[in-house]
Amino acid sequence: MSEYVDQLLTNVATKNPHEPEFRQAVEEVMESVELVLERHPEYRDAKIVERIVEPERVIQFRVPWVDDAGDVHVNRGFRIEMNSALGPYKGGLRFHPAVYIGKLKFLAFEQIFKNALTTLPMGAGKGGADFDPKGKTDTEVMRFCQSFMTELQRHIGPDTDVPAGDVGVGGREIGFLFGQYRRIRNVHAGGVLTGKGVGWGGSLIRPEATGYGAVYFAEEMLATRDESLEGNRCLVSGSGNVAQYTVEKLLDLGAKPITLSDTGGFVYDPDGIDREKLAWVMTLKNERRGRMREYVEAFPSATFTPAEAGDANPLWAVPADCAFPSAIENEINEKDAVNLANGGVKVVSEGANMPTTPNGVQVFFDMGVMYGPGKAANAGGVAVSGLEMSQNSMRVTWDREVVDDRLRTIMKRIHQQCRETAEDYGKPGSYFHGANIAGFTRVADAMLAQGVI
Ligand code: NDP
Repeated sequence: MSEYVDQLLTNVATKNPHEPEFRQAVEEVMESVELVLERHPEYRDAKIVERIVEPERVIQFRVPWVDDAGDVHVNRGFRIEMNSALGPYKGGLRFHPAVYIGKLKFLAFEQIFKNALTTLPMGAGKGGADFDPKGKTDTEVMRFCQSFMTELQRHIGPDTDVPAGDVGVGGREIGFLFGQYRRIRNVHAGGVLTGKGVGWGGSLIRPEATGYGAVYFAEEMLATRDESLEGNRCLVSGSGNVAQYTVEKLLDLGAKPITLSDTGGFVYDPDGIDREKLAWVMTLKNERRGRMREYVEAFPSATFTPAEAGDANPLWAVPADCAFPSAIENEINEKDAVNLANGGVKVVSEGANMPTTPNGVQVFFDMGVMYGPGKAANAGGVAVSGLEMSQNSMRVTWDREVVDDRLRTIMKRIHQQCRETAEDYGKPGSYFHGANIAGFTRVADAMLAQGVI
């Protein structure tokens, strides 16, 4: 690394102590941005990088709520308004006990480049709370969401900041959040949140978009080698929104998904997770809010491996052709990456945000695994959120086929943009560099044009 980038990373580390995920995300991007700065000294002179690592605004607030037994709880809520050079802040809300400012800053930072890659007019943000929806009743989740929105509403708006879902925030939570916004502001502003129900301003294909998009991205990567997904055994982690629709699209395209997981462990179904089994998983996770271990009781052909602390996740050692990490950050370490490559995996398309550690990414490069980084491969979700915003402002609803077609086109374009940019910067075949550089230059140009703000 150059002295300049080295110094920059030291400053980021000094200014953001105890935020390892944020520093990891910045370091990963800087590896690529260094190449851009050599070609574009004007970005360096305008201190684009120094500005881009500093959120435009960080909001932290108290979220008090009362459980069903009448006990009072206090959580911490956040919204990181990271960068608005390209449009209103845009990015999801995460409700998870591990949420803290550093994790949301990493996610908001990733969102800058991801949203830029879609070429839609969206800036970057992320938010959430250290609230754990697991084990809570619907009424408790509702009261929490209402309290959360009572504060958040003063900071957001269709032209300012447009949150959506993420881990722990699905259709149920978006409904409660939107209801409270509408009540306090006395305005039915559909464009203030995306991921809404289709009956009240949501877009068809939004729930499916992240998973579908990650599969479309893998399809594009394979097509460069004249291959397709058909007949390929696919590892999928997680069992939430992204994982479920990844499995659905894999089935549409003739592939064979064979794993799913949650925090309790993973199931391996050598017969494949077919549509009937997927429907069962959707009911389990979205309605009964149960655990993946129950899968083996319903489908005895499968095995369940409980999660255990160890130096590798056995899910990634199951022999397969493709992998779709769709659970959480840093779920594939160096050893897992070696296991994936040795097990026959030729393509990794990241549905989750930053699921592979930097050493794991290096293994993919070294062992010739095609690697689609999250900021490109999972951009389909935010892209269809952008389409939901367009439909809301035009007060129209597009058909399922129209939205799916647009999603597919956007994923194709992102893929092409990554490939061409990587080639242009002397890193042929590296989607990692292509995504970082293409995303960065689009935002940097906008920041340059808009002056020092
Ligand atoms: P959900 O909350 O719907 O599902 C998350 C899934 O991951 C659950 O099955 C959960 O298990 C599992 N999980 C969480 N933490 C761990 C862990 N430490 N080990 C193993 N499994 C774990 O979230 P989403 O599907 O929406 O999000 C998944 C990933 O995709 C996240 O990285 C998110 O940031 C990213 N993403 C999501 C987008 C979206 O549109 N929703 C858009 C772009 C990226 P359990 O049920 O036990 O909690």
